[in-house]
Amino acid sequence: MKKYNFSAGPAILPAPVLKEAAKGVVNFEGSGLGIIEISHRSPEFTGVIEEATALVQELMELPEGYHVLWLTGGASSQFFMAPMNLLNTNETAGYVDSGVWADKAIQEARAFGNIEVLGSSKADNYTHIPKVRIPNGLKYVHLTSNNTIYGTQYKRFPKSPVPIVCDMSSDFLSRPFDVAPFGLIYAGAQKNLGPSGVTIAVVREDMLGTVDRHLPTMLDYRTFISKKSLYNTPPVFPIYASMLTLRWLKKLGGTKAIQRRNKAKARLLYEAIDSSPLFAGTAAAEDRSLMNVCFVMAKGYETLQDEFLATCKNNGLIGLKGHRSVGGFRASIYNAMPKKGVQVLVDLMTDFAARKG
Ligand SMILES: *Cc1c(COP(=O)(O)O)cnc(C)c1O
Repeated sequence: MKKYNFSAGPAILPAPVLKEAAKGVVNFEGSGLGIIEISHRSPEFTGVIEEATALVQELMELPEGYHVLWLTGGASSQFFMAPMNLLNTNETAGYVDSGVWADKAIQEARAFGNIEVLGSSKADNYTHIPKVRIPNGLKYVHLTSNNTIYGTQYKRFPKSPVPIVCDMSSDFLSRPFDVAPFGLIYAGAQKNLGPSGVTIAVVREDMLGTVDRHLPTMLDYRTFISKKSLYNTPPVFPIYASMLTLRWLKKLGGTKAIQRRNKAKARLLYEAIDSSPLFAGTAAAEDRSLMNVCFVMAKGYETLQDEFLATCKNNGLIGLKGHRSVGGFRASIYNAMPKKGVQVLVDLMTDFAARKG
């Protein structure tokens, strides 16, 4: 039986990427050596990281002055690395509390400067994105573009008089957008780009060099800029697999093409949820995510939750259990999820509703 994995992360990679990556582990491009057993300073690997970097620049249409960095420590390490590099103790940064990841970023940032929470939807269990006005005078404003746990996403980013710092872990390269208002973008790879183990950061030069504190070498973005992410041994396999995903995305037509696909997939699933008496969406309609679709059993049908999950599993649909703080179901339909996978889920929902409704 064909399996479809809707896990929120680590998440699926495009099938041709997995196949090619598996080959590269054993024999990288016919060299007779595996990509994970050669020097990170070999021409083979420097070719990989340079191509990956160039593809990010191309796919994001990065203007002059932006650097692509390959880091470790997950997006969670960016929660402290960003304020450590960008914010002085006597300065203020604005944060939007749109979910648990955003809240973690807020808690970590408090160690480095003044943090002003501009808005929060916590009282509503983060079912929508708080609308905020971003004031002047902040060093930066921190946003989370897609709230993985709650299935909410900025459709358009708010106008900001200060640079935006953004956690794009769960919608990185899922759509085109104007990079110019952003001073820093970061993302753990394991949702929309590659295997876990590498974290990508895109930073604008003028954001750096303004803090007074001592920055340890490995926590200073400038180290990664000046050494092209090769100051120490980088996570070679995750970077290699990410490069393959970037090639795949480019071949597909880049962010415009993937956005069309992502919209079509999400529409299919949301329409199925909205039109079914058995299921109900949990996120506010205007903020619904194209990446993580969260839903529950509708009122009166709550007791069918475990049975539906079991039905999914028996039919090869994996990873649909919602986050423990939301309950219900979550279908993560990142770039790599084919429309066919969503169609199989929708058909199963329809069939289940016909039998149980
Ligand atoms: C998964 C996730 C994180 C945490 O990523 P790690 O790489 O595991 O540290 C942070 N932010 C968002 C939005 C996420 O989805």
